[in-house]
Amino acid sequence: MSDDLARRPTYSEGSSRALSTPLQPSVVYRAESPDALNATYDGTAPGYTYSREGHANAAVLARKIDSLEGATGGMMTGSGMAAVSSTLLALLSQGDHVIGGNQLYGRSLRLLSTELPRYGIAHTLVDATDASAVEAAIRPETRLLLMEVVSNPTLRVADMEAIVEIAKRHKLILVVDNTFTTPLAYKPLAAGADIVIHSVTKLLAGHSDAMLGYVACVDPAHREAIDGVIQTHGFTPSPYDCWMAERGLMSFGLRYDRAEANAAALADHLAKQPGLERVIYPGRPDHPDHNRAGALLGPRFGNMVSFEIAGSLAAANRLVKAMPNLPFAPTLGDIGTTLSHAASSSHRALSPEDRAKLGMSDGFFRISVGIEEIDTLKAEFTQGFSALKG
Ligand SMILES: *Cc1c(COP(=O)(O)O)cnc(C)c1O
Repeated sequence: MSDDLARRPTYSEGSSRALSTPLQPSVVYRAESPDALNATYDGTAPGYTYSREGHANAAVLARKIDSLEGATGGMMTGSGMAAVSSTLLALLSQGDHVIGGNQLYGRSLRLLSTELPRYGIAHTLVDATDASAVEAAIRPETRLLLMEVVSNPTLRVADMEAIVEIAKRHKLILVVDNTFTTPLAYKPLAAGADIVIHSVTKLLAGHSDAMLGYVACVDPAHREAIDGVIQTHGFTPSPYDCWMAERGLMSFGLRYDRAEANAAALADHLAKQPGLERVIYPGRPDHPDHNRAGALLGPRFGNMVSFEIAGSLAAANRLVKAMPNLPFAPTLGDIGTTLSHAASSSHRALSPEDRAKLGMSDGFFRISVGIEEIDTLKAEFTQGFSALKG
């Protein structure tokens, strides 16, 4: 073993191997020779050069998500929005038109409405439960459809079978943000989509301590274009976040099963509470898309439950304050249950009238159900709802 001039002594490599994946924070990799470096850049030899262009912790994590999604060559990005942005920036050009679901993630809507127009890219938003509305929005210059399977926070289920068929018939690139549904409920590529995206920050990593995105493509030309945007715009993931997410992902299946069972039980519990206007869970027969959810999702109805209480913002505040042990936090997919409120977080940019059109009053809440003991969860909500009586 020889020592580096500035960094002696070097890391010793014995014949033993670490069981867990090592965290490799190095930004830069040394090569044996100019020939070896050229081979790495060309992709004819494995290895890394500079971590904005790829690193070991991202590659390990991407291969694991690939296997869940039935994808090959998936890429990690620094956030879920970096995955959405790099995909649209790579595949759309000036003069193109994109169609998005009208209940996409808030920042995806912002990307379409505020950022892409500056590049001369137009968009139309449509109700993704209505395939005829999707088809009617297609123009000669339409290139791409951006869809989520289950909408946030009203949990409507897109007509994905028809949308896949429309995309194929009109030769449009179908991009599915699979964050809410996860590969346990829906596999976009197997269903006929061209590209699958995740905010890995949410359910896949699952502990609210890593921010990452993932994107995988069927067409190698799409992959190459998106990879170029990730590296050039610098949408690169950090090794530490990839390493944390890899650990989180190991328990993803267990967490999802448990959280989903809790969500079904909690939805039924909420339905019995005085002061409840409606509970929204795709697994309940009273959900408007219950049959489609059953057919499309396996049926895996997921861990998200929304509900609406009667009354004003004052009632919403009373409910939250009466449940001090339930984190009121604008995220989803954490190992623990979190509660969020559309009017004050995800949909605060909309007017009350526009929120009402999407079915969200000031009493509208969304629960991302976690893995707690179900009786503890039920008791917390019973306590919250009893504060509404006063
Ligand atoms: C959170 C989220 C995103 C954005 O992901 P970040 O990791 O927060 O950037 C995109 N799509 C959906 C559906 C999300 O829930």
